Amino acid sequence: MEKVQVLDKQFEFYLSYEEIDSKIQLLANKINKDLAGKDPIFICILNGAFMFAADLLKKLTIDCSISFLKMASYSGVGSTGTVKQLIGLNENISSRTVVIVEDIIDTGLTIENIIKQLNAFDPKEILIASLIVKPDSYNGVYPIDYYCFQIPNDFIVGYGLDYNGYGRNLKNIYQICK
Ligand code: 5GP
Repeated sequence: MEKVQVLDKQFEFYLSYEEIDSKIQLLANKINKDLAGKDPIFICILNGAFMFAADLLKKLTIDCSISFLKMASYSGVGSTGTVKQLIGLNENISSRTVVIVEDIIDTGLTIENIIKQLNAFDPKEILIASLIVKPDSYNGVYPIDYYCFQIPNDFIVGYGLDYNGYGRNLKNIYQICK
């Protein structure tokens, strides 16, 4: 089994780029059908979702647009401590069909936070497209409308996903060696 070293950790081969790409094609086929005529705006959450968003968008044949947002941590003045704020939204998403493009959904806290912040701009609807979901860990209230893979609770890197900032450039996905 192919192994890669990222910083101080070893990872073993998990999903090939070919498998990922063919799952994204299936997902794109579904989105092309479901969202035709809805003029959706895809919102790619940086940094992790950049490769997924690029490959997904190339396979979409419907009219659509894309924007890139980032969750920025800052120390809040309130008692809640660190708050993550969504930054970079320049488009008007009011009355639009919004599709959040995420790399991976684990507990669901991040996506919940993103949805809450986007809802303030009064979109018509918000859908979620995540490359990967960890169903054993997810306990959010929102249905994950579109995803490519469900995986167990193991830490993975590659195809945009990082370990302490490294490993995003790996073409395949690797899981941490146990
Ligand atoms: P959640 O808020 O759903 O618990 O976590 C979502 C975020 O945690 C993802 O956007 C990603 O940044 C990070 N994350 C969760 N699981 C993994 C993983 O297995 N590998 C990597 N690289 N990041 C993960």
